[in-house]
Amino acid sequence: EVLNYVLPEQLASAQANLPKTIDMLEIYSDLFGLYPFITEKYGHSQFGWGGGMEHQTMTSLGGFSEGLVAHELAHQWFGDMITCRNWSNIWMNEGFATYLTGLYYEQQYGASSYWSYMYSQMNSAKNANGSIYVYDTSNVGTLFNGNLVYAKGATVLHMLRHVIGDTAFFQAMYEYANDTLYKYGTAVTEDFQAICETVSGSDLDYFFDEWIYGEKYPSYIISWEADSTGLGYDVTINIDQTTGTSNPTFFTMPIDLKFSSSGWDTTVTVFNNQQSQLFVITLPQEPATVELDPENWILKSFAKAFTITPASVTMGTVKVGTSKTDSVTVTNQSSGTLNITSVISDLEPVTVTPTSGSMGVGGSMKFYITFTPTGDGAKTAHLTFTHNLGTPEVLSVTAFGLFPRATHKLSKNWNIASLPLTPADPRKTTIFTTASSAAFAYVQGSGYVMKDTLTPGSSYWLKFPNDVNVTFVGLIRTTDTISVQTGWNLIGSITDPLEVGAVLSVPSGIISSPFFNYQNGYLVADSLKPSKGYWVNVSSNGQLILTAPSGKK
Ligand SMILES: [Zn+2]
Repeated sequence: EVLNYVLPEQLASAQANLPKTIDMLEIYSDLFGLYPFITEKYGHSQFGWGGGMEHQTMTSLGGFSEGLVAHELAHQWFGDMITCRNWSNIWMNEGFATYLTGLYYEQQYGASSYWSYMYSQMNSAKNANGSIYVYDTSNVGTLFNGNLVYAKGATVLHMLRHVIGDTAFFQAMYEYANDTLYKYGTAVTEDFQAICETVSGSDLDYFFDEWIYGEKYPSYIISWEADSTGLGYDVTINIDQTTGTSNPTFFTMPIDLKFSSSGWDTTVTVFNNQQSQLFVITLPQEPATVELDPENWILKSFAKAFTITPASVTMGTVKVGTSKTDSVTVTNQSSGTLNITSVISDLEPVTVTPTSGSMGVGGSMKFYITFTPTGDGAKTAHLTFTHNLGTPEVLSVTAFGLFPRATHKLSKNWNIASLPLTPADPRKTTIFTTASSAAFAYVQGSGYVMKDTLTPGSSYWLKFPNDVNVTFVGLIRTTDTISVQTGWNLIGSITDPLEVGAVLSVPSGIISSPFFNYQNGYLVADSLKPSKGYWVNVSSNGQLILTAPSGKK
């Protein structure tokens, strides 16, 4: 019989979630033996604050979330039926109830639900400080620490399940729950360990010493090499680890290694019980990748097989039309050869060279990163370094592209104007936003022609209502070759002023007039100024060549 005492305002939530209690009772009863208080009842009574408390046969709770209901029900077996004998072993209540919630999800919704629940528990467990076995039981915060006692406690059962295998694990859990020494009594970690050892036939001292009485978790570095034997491949794998603690300095664990290449994979379990341990595995194929614990049975992280210095690249502002190159240094931190098989940028204006490389133990090499902006604005590229020692490393590169700007004054009324920069956007309405006239080009035989799109090297009549400063946006023009036809031509200029004597022609000697600019009347120019345009007469068809003096760019 399941009895529920619910506050009226929570009735809908209770009616949605509490019927699952029946499924939970069946699942836990199948795994750990019949609900221990079957001759009495089970139920929930709501209280006016958060959380839950697993009162025997009648859990008190503040809400009816599925995870909370499953957790408190699990305590009827582990917490109420078997209670930790002392506070130091509180994980045998809370770690078990937290893990059983995952088992409920697995049975009710399938393996992926279990894995996502455990993924989240393992993430929390990485933040745990100290040992699961609580030495200082005066601190309530430690006894009920979510990361340590709950999440890491659950993670220990998750790991144990893979160490001894599903069959032995569930048999051991059942036997522990039904052992008359502990059922309706109390237990400590050693009692549970002894049952696991008997059922599995394995010595589990190493496991409980590391994970219950020790702290933290291993950070692995794996390196490998495949050598052809003619018949197949001998793959030599080196596994190193750091623990960041003196208790323990090493986590002995069975570790799954998954070898794969296109269309093929195989998983081998090795027993890793010493630092810098070498394993040689004979395989029928050459693996492209080797993954350590691909399913995530072990609480762990991966130490970086190599460092990239600096850890990110900031290139600052780079002008469009130019490029900038920085370098990073990759240093092999592993105990084997580092082969970088590719370096790929996800953004076209950022390139890297070389795109592969090999480094021996402690070796390093430089990679050169070039940013060639194509427009204004901030850019972030990610360079992915794929290599033989695990997960690819990603380097981020940020840079700011900026078109050159040049500001020049144009006068009230009519001007002959030109483009000092090759414009990013050549439309007249974008460049001369305040002009009160159209832009008129001079075309021999046709006279003045309105232009919507403007071309550097040409010049245009433009009228302004006032004196105006025009900011041009585009690429620097250090040189231009301008086609001219016999007679009068309207030409433009380049980014920097140029003495008229420096203007060359092809054929030579065809320039047959001064250069005239217009400023409320024609003026003879002694230099061609940026943003201005000029009349010039030539004696034959040809080209005028405007080139900034060397050194001026
Ligand atoms: Zn609990």
